[in-house]
Amino acid sequence: ERDELKALRFAPAVTLDGIQIRMEANIELPEEAADALAAGAEGIGLFRSEFLFMGRSSLPSEEEQYEAYASVVRTMAGRPVTIRTLDIGADKTLDGEVTVATNPALGLRAIRYCLANPEMFNTQLRALLRAAAHGPIRVLFPMVSHMHEIHAARRALARAAAELRTAGLPHDAAVQVGAMVEIPAIAIAIEPFAEALDFLSIGTNDLIQYVLAIDRGDTDVASLYDPMHPAVLRLIAHTINVGERLGKPVSICGEMAGDVRVTRMLLGLGLTGFSMHPQQLLDVKKEIRRAHSNALRVKVASALNRAERIDLSTLDA
Ligand code: PEP
Ligand code: MG
Repeated sequence: ERDELKALRFAPAVTLDGIQIRMEANIELPEEAADALAAGAEGIGLFRSEFLFMGRSSLPSEEEQYEAYASVVRTMAGRPVTIRTLDIGADKTLDGEVTVATNPALGLRAIRYCLANPEMFNTQLRALLRAAAHGPIRVLFPMVSHMHEIHAARRALARAAAELRTAGLPHDAAVQVGAMVEIPAIAIAIEPFAEALDFLSIGTNDLIQYVLAIDRGDTDVASLYDPMHPAVLRLIAHTINVGERLGKPVSICGEMAGDVRVTRMLLGLGLTGFSMHPQQLLDVKKEIRRAHSNALRVKVASALNRAERIDLSTLDA
C-alpha cells in the first residue's frame, strides 16, 4: 500500500477527465521543505512564518529570516514557495507578550498586527524580497478583510524593495502577492480582492470558525465546527468561481485540503489547487486521479444551489 503510494510521487495530479490539479505542501519550519519535496509537492502552498517567531524571547533578525526563507527556496529548486507573513495573535502568541485583546480571534492579529507594527513588518518583507533573489516567492497576507489593508501591505512591500535597492542588496521585487480568504467578508465580496491580487488561498480553518461563530480551539463546541455546512461551502464555491472567471489561481490551504474524505467534494466545488501537510499529499493525489471532476461539479452545484447538505456518499465513484 505504501509502495503503491510512493509510486505516485511523480505521477501527475490529473483527474480522469483531464483537469490538472496543483498539489502543494504546508510547512511550519524550513526543514520540512525536504519532506514536501520528497512527497512530490509542486511547491510550498503555505509556509506559516510565525513559527520562526514563537517560543523565543527576541524577534528573529532580518538576516535570520532571510536565511530561513532562502533555505526553503533553495530546497524547492525553482518551485514556487508561498510565504505567509506573520500570523500572530489568537491561537498563536509571541512569548512574553501580554494579551490585552478582549477577543483575540477578533482583535489585532495577523495583517492587522503587522500594519500596526511597521518596523517589524518591514524586517520580514525585506527578508522575503532578499530570499526571492534565489527563486520564486509568493507573499501571502493573512486575515485580510479590507481593500485598504491590501493597499497598505503593498505600500509596505514597495518601501522594503526601495530600501533594498538603495542599499544595493540583491533581491527580487517582482514577487507574486496574494491573500488568505479566511474572513467571511472577503469571500462574500471577493471580486475587488481577486482583481487586486495575483492569487488567493482559502484558509478553511479560520473561515469555518468565523462563518459558524465556533472557536476552532474550543472542545465544548467542536461538534458544531462543521466544514460541510452549506454556508461554508457556498463561500468556498463563490471564491473559486470568481477566481476562475478573473483568471486568478485559487487554492485551499486549510485542513480540508488534506482530508481525503472531502477530496471529491472539493473537486466538485471546482477546486484546482490543494495545499496540505506533506504526509497527506499522496493519498489525496490518489483520490484525485480516480475522480471525474466535471461529473462531481454537476452534483455538487445542484446541492449547493438548494443550500442542501451534501451527502458525501453520493459522490463516490
Ligand atoms: C486556515 O486558517 O485555514 C489556515 C490555513 O491558517 P492557520 O490554520 O494557520 O490559521
Ligand atoms: Mg488562518
